[in-house]
Amino acid sequence: ADRLLTVNNLQVSFHTRSGENKAVRGVSLHIDQGETIGIVGESGSGKSVTAKAIMAMIPPPGEIISGEITFAGENLSGLAERKWRQIRGNRIAMVFQDPMTSLNPVKKIGQQMTEVIRRHRGLSKEAALKEAVEMLRQVGINEPERRVQQYPHEFSGGMRQRVMIAMALSCQPELLIADEPTTALDVTIQAQILDLLKELKDKTSASIALITHDLGVVAQVCSRVIVMYGGMVMEEGTVEDIFYNSKHPYTQGLLRSVPQRQGGSRERLVPIEGSPPDLLDPPSGCPFMERCPHAMPKCAELPPHFQINEGHRALCWLNDAEVQGELARHPELE
Ligand code: SF4
Ligand code: MG
Repeated sequence: ADRLLTVNNLQVSFHTRSGENKAVRGVSLHIDQGETIGIVGESGSGKSVTAKAIMAMIPPPGEIISGEITFAGENLSGLAERKWRQIRGNRIAMVFQDPMTSLNPVKKIGQQMTEVIRRHRGLSKEAALKEAVEMLRQVGINEPERRVQQYPHEFSGGMRQRVMIAMALSCQPELLIADEPTTALDVTIQAQILDLLKELKDKTSASIALITHDLGVVAQVCSRVIVMYGGMVMEEGTVEDIFYNSKHPYTQGLLRSVPQRQGGSRERLVPIEGSPPDLLDPPSGCPFMERCPHAMPKCAELPPHFQINEGHRALCWLNDAEVQGELARHPELE
C-alpha cells in the first residue's frame, strides 16, 4: 500500500511554570493509504499530543522541538498557517472526544455542516445542504431532512458524535484522526459508533487513526496498532502481533486490563499498578521501568526498538539476544 503519512522522530514539549514537560519524546510512525491504525496508551502517554502535532494544532506553551511529518509526499514541517488551512479539516480531519465542544450550540446542525462543506468544497448552499443530509444518512441518522433543522442539544451524545463524524467526512479527507471518539459515550452507544467506523472504513478510501486508551476498541476496528507510553512508542505491530504475540510488558499489562466478555459475564480487570512517569523529569532509561514486573538493572539504560518481524517492533530489553542469554543463565536476575 502507498504511504500516506510518515512521522519521523517527533518531539513535543510544553513549557510550563514547573519546567519543560516532554510530552512526546521521539515518536516515529506511519499510516498507509486506506488503513486503520490504533494509537493506544493511558492518558499522558503522548497519543493525543502526537495527533495534534500531525494537525499542527499544538497550542502554546507547546512546541514541536523536532521531527518531520510527511503527508502524501509533502513535508508538512514548517508549513505556513495559510497552507495549513487547506490541509486541516480538508485533507486531514479530526473527531474529538466531546462533540459538544466542537459544535456551535446556537446554530442548527444543517447550517454548521453546510458552512464546513462550502468552505472546503465550494458548493452552493443548496448543494451543500443536500450533501449534509446525505452525510447524516450515511452515518446512520434517521430522517436527516428533519434533523438538519435541529440544534446540537436536540441530539443525544451518540448522535452528536455521528454528526461530528459526518462533518469530518463531508470534506472527503484522506486521513481521519479520531481521538477517543467513544470515551464519553455509554457502552451500547460506543459499540454503535465503532460499528459505524468499521462500516466507513469499507465505504470510504480514507485512512483512519483511532486514538484510544482501550485495546479492546482497537481489536474491533484496526488492522495495525501503535502502543505508546511515557511519550514513546513501546510496541508496534499488526492486531495479531499485539494481541497474540506481544513482546512488551506494557502491552501485556494493557491486554490483561481489557474487559473480556465470556459467557455473558465480564471478567475481572487487572489494572497495571503504579502511575506513568513524570515527563517534567522523564527517566533516562526504559519509561516503563518503575511499573514493569520484569525490570532488571539493564533497564536503567533506554532500550532501542527491537525488530521482532517485519512491521513488529518493541522497545524492551527482553528482546535482546544477549539479555535473553543472560536471563537463561541467571533466571534470578529477572
Ligand atoms: Fe520492562 Fe525492562 Fe522491558 Fe522496560 S526494558 S519494559 S523495564 S523489561
Ligand atoms: Mg487524550
